[in-house]
Amino acid sequence: MEKKAECEIVQDLLLGYVDNILNSESKKIVEKHLIECENCQNRLEEIKNDIEENENNEKKQIDYLKKVRIKNKIKSILFVIIILILILFGYYLYKFSILNRISKKSREQFKTENFYIEKIEKIGNDDKLSVTKTWYKDGKYKVSWCTKNDADGSIENLLTEYQDLKSNPNEKYDIDEYNKKIQKITWNFESGKDDLIEVQNPTFPSSKEYLLMKLGAPFHTKISTDYEYIGRKYYVLKSGKTETWVDIDTGLPIMKFGGSTMTVYYNNTKIPKERTESISEYHYEFNTVNDTDVEMPDITGYEIENIDYNEMIKEQTK
Ligand SMILES: [Zn+2]
Repeated sequence: MEKKAECEIVQDLLLGYVDNILNSESKKIVEKHLIECENCQNRLEEIKNDIEENENNEKKQIDYLKKVRIKNKIKSILFVIIILILILFGYYLYKFSILNRISKKSREQFKTENFYIEKIEKIGNDDKLSVTKTWYKDGKYKVSWCTKNDADGSIENLLTEYQDLKSNPNEKYDIDEYNKKIQKITWNFESGKDDLIEVQNPTFPSSKEYLLMKLGAPFHTKISTDYEYIGRKYYVLKSGKTETWVDIDTGLPIMKFGGSTMTVYYNNTKIPKERTESISEYHYEFNTVNDTDVEMPDITGYEIENIDYNEMIKEQTK
């Protein structure tokens, strides 16, 4: 066979040779020729280089496509996360606005200089109800703590607190009428009327010192509405173990469940039998308080104990 013709045949077979698909006869011919022919050796190198280059390009393309796919995946995950954050933030704002509206409404009720608040708390099956009554008129207030026997209706006065926030804001009187004892407390009572309201309306305090509490409230408060039990629409605010019903029109609490708890033990043991939770009922009246409701009683013959917190702090810091 002529050399040139042999070269042509071998070069036709070279692709198959590289791919290793030749029969053994053809393979032998190619290998034998390659040993003798530099030209065909070069051609073989060229083919090998071409194939390698192609493979590299293919790999690059696949890598590029993979990168694009990962980028797209990250983008869509970020998108979902952002949408979720926006939804949660919207839900937070929605709850915040409800709580804020309630708080504002209840504040408006207390703009008056004349109100009466009554809180009746019952813990578990205890017959004794604890009753807190607050009278406020033109800067003077009286808070009376008593217990009421649910069975016979008898009332036992525990303590009455008096203060004149306008003419004597730094003096408070705790009066035990039963034992005829008075504690006269001197202290910088700053919050005054606000304190009376916040204590009775704990759902969403408005004053600045409770800002964190206020911002946190939407996170842990579940809000729904209900019609039952009192015949008009009210909010049901659930937070932890407490549930508060709030009048939609006035923003004032109507009932509170689980404000405080009491553990009942088995007789003469420390083994807890049950934990009972409290139910509190709130009543409000506006512009019904008389001057006599907030007037100090005649305290002649009472034993007076002076407690000056300012002096006590001075003593301690000496
Ligand atoms: Zn050749």
